[in-house]
Amino acid sequence: MRDRFVIGNWKLNGGLAANALLLDALSVGVVEKSGRSCGVCVPSPYLAQVQAALKDSFIGWGSQDVSRFESGAYTGDVSAGMVAEFGSRYALVGHSERRAIFGDTEDVVAGKFGLALRAVLTPILCVGESLPERESGKTEEVVWRQLQAVVVAHGVSGLSRAILAYEPVWAIGTGKTASPGQAEDVHAFLRGKVRALDKAIGDQLSILYGGSVKKSNAAELFGMPDIDGGLIGGASLVAEEFLGIWNAL
Ligand code: PEP
Repeated sequence: MRDRFVIGNWKLNGGLAANALLLDALSVGVVEKSGRSCGVCVPSPYLAQVQAALKDSFIGWGSQDVSRFESGAYTGDVSAGMVAEFGSRYALVGHSERRAIFGDTEDVVAGKFGLALRAVLTPILCVGESLPERESGKTEEVVWRQLQAVVVAHGVSGLSRAILAYEPVWAIGTGKTASPGQAEDVHAFLRGKVRALDKAIGDQLSILYGGSVKKSNAAELFGMPDIDGGLIGGASLVAEEFLGIWNAL
């Protein structure tokens, strides 16, 4: 049985008062389920607040990115080691917004992945194609290129301490979800590529789907054989939605 996850990505949202309300609701509502983990990836200034609010709960937490550097003259960056100091379990790396808006290349993402592993965080590596890439039949080529960059840099064994998230760019924040079949096809493809390198790692790798997941569509997506949970953006900011998604896992 593979581990299953529901992980929230708050993006650039939040505030101390609103976070406190949301975290209260989540710590009451997220009831432990074996083989399943829940987490929230928050803006780094809130890591201390989240650590204090969730330390006695079943919910883990983490960051939405880590620096490509360990320390030094890199104004504005937050290192994986700093994120880990707040008891974090997770760090997103390679989210499509980091790739598209902040110019994270495949090499940069691979570097961040390695630094997250070194800090004993679980990197959640995001891969996904744009709409023009899907429409020109390039989905598999794109997601494999993104994953392969990490495999080349860290070996397939690097994936044994990571989570993979398939997030089609055209489905993120758009309200357009990939159909369960569309998502499953890509998840099965990615798992097949990893299995071809190492069967045990491919079998064990948790692959989450992200892109406009809501409580109304979560159960159907999570019912697919290669979908091991979800990475949730907008709906992770609304307790009732996020709890509904958790309950669908
Ligand atoms: C995301 O940002 O990772 C995401 C999946 O966003 P949304 O759920 O809002 O599409």
